Amino acid sequence: MENIRIQDDLYTYVNREKLEELVIPDDMPMAGGFAALSTDVEKLMIGEFNTMCAEASYPNDYLARACKLYTLAKDVKRKKKHGIKPALKNLAILKKLSSLRGYNLHTKELILKGIAMPINIAVEPNMKDTTHHCVMIQGPSVILPDTSYYAEGKEQQKEMLLNMWSGFAKQVLAIAGHSEEEADALLKNTLSFDALIAKYVKSNEEWSEYTKMYNPMKTGRVAGMVKPLNLKKLLTDLFGLIPEEIIVAEPRYFKNFKEVFNPDNFEMYKAWAYVTSLMGSCSLLSEELRDLGGGFRRALSGIAAVSTPEKFAYQLASGMYSEPVGLYYGEKYFGEEAKADIIDIVRQIVATYQKRIKDNDILEQATKDKAILKLSTMGIKMGYPDRVEEIYDKLVFDESKSLYDAVSTLRKIRILENFAKLGKEVDRTHWAMPGHMVNACYDPFVNDITFPAAILQAPFYSIKQSRSENLGGIGAVIGHEISHAFDSNGAKCDELGNLNNWWTKADERKFNKKVNAMIKQFDGIELPWGKVNGKFTVSENIADNGGMAVTLDIMSSSEGVSFEEYFTNWARVWCQKAKPEYQALLLQVDVHGPNILRANMPPRNFPEWYETFKVKKSDKMYIAPSKRVVIW
Ligand SMILES: [Zn+2]
Repeated sequence: MENIRIQDDLYTYVNREKLEELVIPDDMPMAGGFAALSTDVEKLMIGEFNTMCAEASYPNDYLARACKLYTLAKDVKRKKKHGIKPALKNLAILKKLSSLRGYNLHTKELILKGIAMPINIAVEPNMKDTTHHCVMIQGPSVILPDTSYYAEGKEQQKEMLLNMWSGFAKQVLAIAGHSEEEADALLKNTLSFDALIAKYVKSNEEWSEYTKMYNPMKTGRVAGMVKPLNLKKLLTDLFGLIPEEIIVAEPRYFKNFKEVFNPDNFEMYKAWAYVTSLMGSCSLLSEELRDLGGGFRRALSGIAAVSTPEKFAYQLASGMYSEPVGLYYGEKYFGEEAKADIIDIVRQIVATYQKRIKDNDILEQATKDKAILKLSTMGIKMGYPDRVEEIYDKLVFDESKSLYDAVSTLRKIRILENFAKLGKEVDRTHWAMPGHMVNACYDPFVNDITFPAAILQAPFYSIKQSRSENLGGIGAVIGHEISHAFDSNGAKCDELGNLNNWWTKADERKFNKKVNAMIKQFDGIELPWGKVNGKFTVSENIADNGGMAVTLDIMSSSEGVSFEEYFTNWARVWCQKAKPEYQALLLQVDVHGPNILRANMPPRNFPEWYETFKVKKSDKMYIAPSKRVVIW
């Protein structure tokens, strides 16, 4: 790596020492960057949980319950004693159902028990009127990570992976008391049903265009499409009413629903529901089952070993009680000084973004006005919320029962809470991410950005880092999240987050042309683990580009800044060493491009990159001015 030049490969040049040093932990697919920060937060919080449990002293009732769930999840002996029984008891209802008629009487119960269904129902904000909720339906997930694994020409890989999955499932079925013959029959049916689903549900690439989920249909029509499933009865059981309209997220799947789910393949469905639900609950059972249940995912990601019971317990408890845990973390570890400083950076970035749009000489005034309105009404959620949502008062479980039963109870409360939202206004103060999460997001349907406390640390941000470094770190990430308001999806929503086209016809054409140029810039780039899908990753690539454009603008108008520090820290935040299997998996399932490209692609669209490092035509990180893309 000694001969690497920054002009050829910014990412590897900046991170070369770190990349050599990094060791991927046995129970992880990667190390460094985001993962390293997450691991640090996790270690810190596991220590906190252990102290709270040892002293039986909790800052509040929520954390007392989180700690009790943690203790339950860590208790290996107790889990061994319960074995697979709690899951089998929960699934017993499936065996009893011998016909579709009987099935239709119990659909609500099956949903509340968390058993796999041919349709999934949820209450979501209505994309065209985001202050109100609607009922949305979608199909189930396939066994492999994406439908692209089932595509023609990939049969060999598909067979290999499904065989591997079946191998783990067979061992679980043996523990469940099934003979080899029974297990083979169950698996044959499971895979046949999975193959039917795979024909029609959306691929990850299709899901990445999330505004295409919005397909309102009259409930009567949908009920006809999903017959023999009695949708009207199910809706009445769930909501006490039949909504006039339903949003169908996957029209293709529901148009072909009868081929997937019908009286002739009811046994096939039952086998699929039984096996996939059982596999999905393994982590809550004995250690042996947790190991088997996670085996396939580990193999796909190149993870060498199962995580410790302690780590698993923390992840489960901190996920179930995410908001109280995040609030505790934020209050204890995130200073008010840092919060004020970052809010200042956000305001400056928003103001610069507005200025850039005002100065934009390609867009028409009408479009610019709308974009500026969207920016000036954008909400900012920084650090952690100041209160815990009401749902956490309800998340109570019986400690004397098994871990499986405890988690089933909590999940059921969450499902019911979601259904109860129908008819209520959308809570726009809801935080999409908890304070202890190392991540950030933009919510297109609320038009706000969320920055949990845990991401607000070095290398992203530190009071000790230079302003240039902070702009290349958290500044560019803030710019990234803001840019999601104007990426290929976000641009379809207005300042209230409603799906509403605010573009003039001519501007929309110009924008789409630039989106296509961005798709082209990434599409087909070959990496050792596979090819990049330009369309699948376009919204994230637009966001990275926009984040860099706005922060470079601030850099240019500031005194005493260093572009070298800016670009160096930008490359540093993406530093990551990952297993090749995991890299290959991410290409199929992650809307973000590979880290090396996130670091190396955006700079080459900007003159500051060429000026700072004297990048010439002969350098690898050079692209001709005519091929450079700047959208915002
Ligand atoms: Zn993003």
